[in-house]
Amino acid sequence: MSPAVGGRELPSGADVVVVGAGITGAATAAAVAARGASVLLVEKEDGPAHEGSGRAQGSLRVQGRHAAEFPLAVEALRLWREAAEEADFEFVVGGNLYFATRDSDLPVLRGLVDEAHASGLADVALLDPDQTREVLPAATGPFLGAMWSPIDAQCQPEKGTEAFVRRALDRGAGVAYGVKATRVIERAGRVAGLETSAGTVAASAVVVAGGAWTPYLASTVGLAVPIMPVVMSEVETKALPPVFRQTIRAFGFGARQRPGGRVVVSGGLNAVVRHEVSLYDLNGLRFWLSRAADFRSHLRLQLGARRILRQIATMSTLDTRLVPDRSPEPRPDRVAVDRALARLAGVIPAMAAATPARYWGGLVDMTPDGLPVIDGACGPEGLTIITGLSGHGFTLGPALGAIAAGLAVDGVSPLPIEGFRLARFSEPGVRRPEMLI
Ligand SMILES: Cc1cc2nc3c(=O)[nH]c(=O)nc-3n(C[C@H](O)[C@H](O)[C@H](O)COP(=O)(O)OP(=O)(O)OC[C@H]3O[C@@H](n4cnc5c(N)ncnc54)[C@H](O)[C@@H]3O)c2cc1C
Repeated sequence: MSPAVGGRELPSGADVVVVGAGITGAATAAAVAARGASVLLVEKEDGPAHEGSGRAQGSLRVQGRHAAEFPLAVEALRLWREAAEEADFEFVVGGNLYFATRDSDLPVLRGLVDEAHASGLADVALLDPDQTREVLPAATGPFLGAMWSPIDAQCQPEKGTEAFVRRALDRGAGVAYGVKATRVIERAGRVAGLETSAGTVAASAVVVAGGAWTPYLASTVGLAVPIMPVVMSEVETKALPPVFRQTIRAFGFGARQRPGGRVVVSGGLNAVVRHEVSLYDLNGLRFWLSRAADFRSHLRLQLGARRILRQIATMSTLDTRLVPDRSPEPRPDRVAVDRALARLAGVIPAMAAATPARYWGGLVDMTPDGLPVIDGACGPEGLTIITGLSGHGFTLGPALGAIAAGLAVDGVSPLPIEGFRLARFSEPGVRRPEMLI
């Protein structure tokens, strides 16, 4: 085992073992430790936030979500604010502007405003271009209006995740890096522990927060979790003078400006994403075939020949031996994010001066309906699964931690999670989202 933060050895047992030191697992470990239970956080990489959580744009956006996610996002924002009092992770509450740049965007935004009001978010408003420029004076390019939400925020994602790991450690959690979880141990319908590359840990509760790799570990207790991993890309520019404090979202671009001046830009709504085709896709194929066809102009397919060879050698598509000990760096789509930067400059002309400094890609754990899986009752008693955050889960992390801790320690979620049951994928009428991502 690599040296764990806090210098601990893998213990023989803990009340709760959490798999994955992304924001979900880190926040879970912190919340479990805060309840006074013993907890071990296990991560295959040599530090936290190496996968989705370290690659996110860092927009802590309440807006533009399915209404079922609102209570989680609002609570998550409260917990982000609370955490920012303890640690510096570039947390800024600058609000979110969701731009309409095409006629077809306006009815979508009107619908989202109505949904927000119905959920008690009274401050959300649809602004015309002049009202928008009162919020963001540099938005002098052509657009039709924007949805404004003042409570949304942003932070630097790897620092935000590290802050929750630090919280977990300060409250007595153990953290083991370089340790891969290989099997959830089940005895008589109950979780009995976790088998890892560094030995077995006895536990009556296991939380799997493994991002895109969750289906592999879930399959060790017979669960089928339909996740399609896709690579989403980002570009960060060199520092510019301050132009905007809001997080920005629109069809074709999404952005935020960090406090130091660098601007992080993504493809925004319906971004172009890449998927590596392999035998893994046979899991949940009935969901993915039609979606891939509907969104073919936003999906780049690439043959994963090496992955297929490994699957054949393992004679499995979900064996945990197929989870890489260290995930390879996903190749970013530079063309797509350069295009997004140009679209941003169309609305905010000052962005035309921006020079790209760094590109990266990250794995998104997509579900068939674009909603997460948050379930403490889908497998053996004591197992909680949180995955499928579908490209917008970093925001929710602290609330997911509170939910997972509630389920693992008391068997009760403090927030409504009925809509996120895994079993919905076995029921008729699975919702089809309007966008790919
Ligand atoms: C490019 C990009 C931009 C994004 N932008 C935003 C944004 O602006 N706002 C937003 O809200 N969301 C955003 N997201 C989505 C967000 O990053 C994710 O939803 C969120 O970070 C998922 O967190 P997680 O902790 O559940 O998973 P992850 O961060 O992926 O963490 C899972 C961890 O589990 C570990 N793991 C997996 N299997 C095992 C195993 N068997 N044993 C040990 N460890 C294991 C992995 O190594 C990993 O560290 C973005 C995603 C991408 C890729």
